[in-house]
Amino acid sequence: MSDRKKNSGAYDKEFIWHPFTQMREYEGKDPVVIERGEGAYLIDSEGRRYIDGVSSLWVNIHGHGVPEIDNAIKKQVDLLSHSTLLGVTNAPAALLAKELIDICPPGLKKVFYSGDGASAVEVALKMAFQYWQHRGKPGKTKFVSLRNAYHGDTLGAVSVGGIELFHAAFKPLLFETFQAPSYYCYRCELGKTYPSCGLACADELGNILEAHHEEIAGVIMEPYVQAAGGMIVSPPGYLGRVREYCDRYGVLLILDEVATGFGRTGRMFACEHEGVTPDILVLGKGMTGGYLPLSATITTGDVYDAFLGEYEEFKTFFHGHSYAGNPLACAASLGNLEAFRNRCPHAPSRDTHGGFEKTRARDI
Ligand SMILES: *Cc1c(COP(=O)(O)O)cnc(C)c1O
Repeated sequence: MSDRKKNSGAYDKEFIWHPFTQMREYEGKDPVVIERGEGAYLIDSEGRRYIDGVSSLWVNIHGHGVPEIDNAIKKQVDLLSHSTLLGVTNAPAALLAKELIDICPPGLKKVFYSGDGASAVEVALKMAFQYWQHRGKPGKTKFVSLRNAYHGDTLGAVSVGGIELFHAAFKPLLFETFQAPSYYCYRCELGKTYPSCGLACADELGNILEAHHEEIAGVIMEPYVQAAGGMIVSPPGYLGRVREYCDRYGVLLILDEVATGFGRTGRMFACEHEGVTPDILVLGKGMTGGYLPLSATITTGDVYDAFLGEYEEFKTFFHGHSYAGNPLACAASLGNLEAFRNRCPHAPSRDTHGGFEKTRARDI
């Protein structure tokens, strides 16, 4: 074993500050240095094998060492590893956008790339906010979020989050939102029971929209499962009811599928369970099968068109990240979709228009 390798535990303790980790506790233990991945296993520097039960934080889809993804990255690295998406493009980014639109719920038309889930959430919030400026309704500036929600750790994403432990410390830095109840039947905050409640939690959200829609740009939520909030599953009919309220009151529906996307709930995307198309869909985590950071904010022609104009009208969406549309990450993501096609023959494909109607839960 080389010295560098032998020292990696010591270097880690000396030089790395780990996310979501109490470092005093961490410093008291010997670091686990992960060296290799094989299928569902991670193998550390001592040769110990671990089942990767958290899918490396919910990003890994088909396991470690997936030939389709390995090969896609290897091929791409010989051609081009990075080039900006500001004003120019690259083949993997363009191909992937087409494949994403093919498998997304019908009605979604344009893909805006970022690097991680939180950035893609920021994009969704700013997009929704600016959409209403361009549509001549500048008063629509606020958001409705859910209690127990998690949308990432940047300030906009924390503002629409609802987990006290993670979010309370930063309150003075955040913008205010209207908070609707969590769709948490087991500990219903309204003290009701499904189905006799008649989806009262969705109706509470509807009440907020009825009273305040003139100042509300969008509703943001994790569809079907509030993941970080404790794997809270929504009751049947909830999402469809929310979509109806958003339509009735002219408010954009932003669905954050960073955790639920790419087959996690048995469909390619969780919103398919209720046949709902959001105005803005946020993807991340599993997008590259757990290989490289990549996220996307996908929206409708209506939202996209609102930003079109002459340069001097300044309707441009002034937002972008350095690694947006990174060719290696996009190649990995194309490999991920290929792996879906190879391993799950009934998974959504371009031929079935995302399998929106045809793909049943057991098919993935
Ligand atoms: C993990 C997560 C995010 C944040 O993604 P990052 O890539 O960690 O920034 C956003 N939304 C949901 C629902 C998530 O689970």
